Amino acid sequence: MKFSDIIGYDSLKKQLIQSVVSDQIAHAQLFLGPEGGPNLAMALAFTSFINCKNRTDYDSCGECDACIKNSKLVHPDVHFAFPVSSTKNIPAKDAISVKFLSEWRNFVIQDPYSNASGWNNYFGGENKQLNISRQESREIIRNLSLKPFEGHYKIMIIWLPEYMHPAAANALLKIIEEPPPNTIFILVSNDETKLLSTILSRTQIIQIRPFSDEEIKELLVNQHFIDEDKAGQIAHLVDGNINEALRLAREVEDDSHRMFREWMRLCYIGDLIKLTNWTDQFNAMSKVAQQTLFQYGLSMMREALIAKNNEMNLSRLMGEELEFIKKFSQILTFEYIEQISKVLTEAFHHIERNANSKILFLSVSLKIFEIFQKIKMLTA
Ligand SMILES: [Zn+2]
Repeated sequence: MKFSDIIGYDSLKKQLIQSVVSDQIAHAQLFLGPEGGPNLAMALAFTSFINCKNRTDYDSCGECDACIKNSKLVHPDVHFAFPVSSTKNIPAKDAISVKFLSEWRNFVIQDPYSNASGWNNYFGGENKQLNISRQESREIIRNLSLKPFEGHYKIMIIWLPEYMHPAAANALLKIIEEPPPNTIFILVSNDETKLLSTILSRTQIIQIRPFSDEEIKELLVNQHFIDEDKAGQIAHLVDGNINEALRLAREVEDDSHRMFREWMRLCYIGDLIKLTNWTDQFNAMSKVAQQTLFQYGLSMMREALIAKNNEMNLSRLMGEELEFIKKFSQILTFEYIEQISKVLTEAFHHIERNANSKILFLSVSLKIFEIFQKIKMLTA
């Protein structure tokens, strides 16, 4: 992780860089900010910068052997402690970070912004209470008693110290206050109210604000390939929490398929009573979800064209969606695919212009119903 991998936060990056350059790195720091922000990512970028053998004024080089090791989270002088629980294969008494290290590395490399529940799902914690145990604190002290192998510093990153058992926290007080020479503690927390005041008072607090709406949008567009309009709308709803943004993006995608399929069925059989009832459901959906439904419909029309042209090798569909589009495209002609696409495109833009969503949904449903009526007359 380099500083440049994190969007924004220029002044914070400068502050961290300055502490390294001026050789004034606080020996115990608390990277503190709400969940869904770049707390851990920032700690990793800071660590890479500290260890880098060829750093620039602004960032680590990303290429020296220290950077390569840091990018894989395998630098011998960087240690991690994080909450774990027992699993099917690891009993509670043996549940300490080192037993989960390879899963942890993959998890963080895949998604450095994830959270405790994401981690719990990832390593198969079976929803047991996560914990940083007393035994873990002994392990931390043992690790730090060794001299650095390669770098000048030994760095101990404790992710989510709010999960520390009080006995573990108490056992660490002394070493956090007076660490061995060239040792840096970085505690990465989402909630200082759950930390012992004795721990808090021994650390220098680095406040990390949530992502801005603009930064969330950029992340969604650049790193998750979400369409710009949708990214903008999602960013607006999530208070700078990237995990929430991604959850929302996935949710509206899944719902869209189910809903579009049922909607088309109702339009086809001409169940106007049910369609009228559906307007309430549509009205209750967020603007993002409404637009996503129409956008999803448009992508299905593109898929129908592909199916009609017998070019299924170009299709990106699988499973249920593929089965649906194979059947759906059989009743459509090129002309009708174009007509439905036009209706959906117009509807998408009407949402943008804040049209009354009940009236809009009903009128779009009727237009599609009429198109299906024409198709039925042709094929009767
Ligand atoms: Zn480097």
